[in-house]
Amino acid sequence: MSATESHVPANFIRHIIAADLAANKNQGRVATRFPPEPNGYLHIGHAKSICLNFTLAAENHGTCNLRFDDTNPEKESVEFMESIERDVAWLGFEWAGKYHASDYFEQLYQYAVQLIKQGDAYVDSSSAEQMRADRGTLTEPGRESPDRSRSIEENLDLFTRMRTGEFADGQYVLRAKIDMASPNINLRDPTIYRIRRVHHHRTGDAWCVYPMYDYTHCISDAIEGITHSICTLEFEDHRPLYDWVLDKLQTPAHPQQIEFARLQLEYTIVSKRKLLQLVTEKHVNGWDDPRMPTIAGLRRAGVTPAAIREFCERIGVTKNNSWIEMGVLENCIREDLNDNALRAMAVLRPLKVVIENWDDDKTEYYAIANHPQKPELGTRQVAFSKVILIEQDDFAENPPKDFKRLVAGGEVRLRGSYVIKCEQVIKNAEGDVIELRCSYDPATLGKNPEGRKVKGVIHWVSEAHSLAAEMRLYDRLFSHPNPDTLDNFLDGINPNSLEVLSNSRVEANLANAETGKPYQFERTGYFCRDADSTAEKLVFNRTVTLRDSWAK
Ligand code: ATP
Ligand code: MG
Repeated sequence: MSATESHVPANFIRHIIAADLAANKNQGRVATRFPPEPNGYLHIGHAKSICLNFTLAAENHGTCNLRFDDTNPEKESVEFMESIERDVAWLGFEWAGKYHASDYFEQLYQYAVQLIKQGDAYVDSSSAEQMRADRGTLTEPGRESPDRSRSIEENLDLFTRMRTGEFADGQYVLRAKIDMASPNINLRDPTIYRIRRVHHHRTGDAWCVYPMYDYTHCISDAIEGITHSICTLEFEDHRPLYDWVLDKLQTPAHPQQIEFARLQLEYTIVSKRKLLQLVTEKHVNGWDDPRMPTIAGLRRAGVTPAAIREFCERIGVTKNNSWIEMGVLENCIREDLNDNALRAMAVLRPLKVVIENWDDDKTEYYAIANHPQKPELGTRQVAFSKVILIEQDDFAENPPKDFKRLVAGGEVRLRGSYVIKCEQVIKNAEGDVIELRCSYDPATLGKNPEGRKVKGVIHWVSEAHSLAAEMRLYDRLFSHPNPDTLDNFLDGINPNSLEVLSNSRVEANLANAETGKPYQFERTGYFCRDADSTAEKLVFNRTVTLRDSWAK
């Protein structure tokens, strides 16, 4: 099933679009866009916007563009642009067109000239500080700049010379001439162009004036013939400016801006600025660290696009800001992996078990199902021999009351193999258990003989047939549910978000595991092979535990 065919619940934006189509608005066309600024990697919040925009277009036989909002060259880069393309495609979406605000720099400039000629924009020499002071507050109107009454001729001359590089950065700005007394501060003559001598990753040094976001965004939407410009709630107060610019310019299209509540997820952060800080200050190992809420991090952790799309659908789209529990995302991941991940055996913290009544050189192979509910996924051969490894905590010297696994003198079933009995416990000088001597019962292969019931089943690997592996046990990056509410969000970091086990062993079949392909290591969690794996040692990332250990 493709990303766009899945069942989709109703939401208020769907209703708006359905009503527009019924009224034949935009000649029955639906065109949306996803407009990231290439100043960081995409995160799970962006996924919500991506799913929404692409799905709304697809279900209405419309189009969705990918548009880079690249008007802040200081913070943007080709690396970020490429990562965004990779992530949107990986989520399963195809853009109709790929555009950049920088594609429109010349048109944006000509539109600004038009505004000047209409008397709707002026060049201001006020300093940034002065402009801030003159802006007013929510309760007081702003003050008009003396430059507001500059003549059209003079404005045209100065704006041309801003472009040709005659002035220093910050010496002049171009402002829309709207209303310094407007109750909406966004309409108090906002800056629409500034002088900034910075190299742009696409236009190089062709420009030393760059348009501001609010001015750029609405015109870019209009140029592309977008019908529904969907953005997050914080832009609600900018909508009058969006409409003012397009009304003044009489652009061929006038898209409708619609706002929805951004995703806020507990136990993490979804702000590119803070994610960047985590990366640059090395609190994590890069943008794709599996603990990051970035698409790249989730992918590296072993999360599938289907799980992310399901999550975005489940949380819905509303106009009310609310917090989503991390468990909602984790459950989408678990459900998807439970259905689809292949099963395998891995021993995270090995304890050596010698089967005393087994021939030294004998090896048996068992066909074990790759998925308990999906026979179509086949079986694999798993080797059994004299020395096997089990989890240290599947043996207990002083077992708690309902312990069903191995104890001294007790029996346990090895998954897919025999029942073994612990005959002897061997300890080192410090008293740690270092080895178990066991016997196996030949009558128990794959079944309990009449009248004998062995309840516990544990996983294992044959020592000689297993491979060395490092396990990276990732946990939530934050132990505080709302790190954003702290004075310093870094104080909410979980000090135990990564535990590395370097002596794990996995069944030999995992030699060929594909990087990123999900597995359920029986009884221990969902894992995938990491690209850090070498010929000597496989590396696996834990995607998620089998059950929610954070549930209260
Ligand atoms: P950030 O706050 O992380 O820097 P942003 O809004 O500045 O995010 P953009 O690159 O401008 O990042 O975002 C591209 C699109 O993704 C915008 O339409 C924005 O509204 C949307 N978006 C960003 N964060 C979220 C979120 N948490 N939930 C839903 N949509 C989001
Ligand atoms: Mg933004």
